[in-house]
Amino acid sequence: MSKTIHIPGGTITLAESKAVCPHCETHISFDKIEKRFWKQSKICIRMKCVCGKQVGITQDYRGDFVAYELKR
Ligand SMILES: [Zn+2]
Repeated sequence: MSKTIHIPGGTITLAESKAVCPHCETHISFDKIEKRFWKQSKICIRMKCVCGKQVGITQDYRGDFVAYELKR
């Protein structure tokens, strides 16, 4: 699933999120992130990547999802 961003004069459709796993560099889909993000209604969430590691997900100032490495 892609994400559509409305800008003045048109729309941009992104096929991939900017959330890239810091461990395996897999793009984590909007689909998976959004389901959890809205359910938990937090500023940041943690989720499991396909590589099996936990990554943190947050949003940048434009509302794009970004992934970061969790410190333990
Ligand atoms: Zn990964």
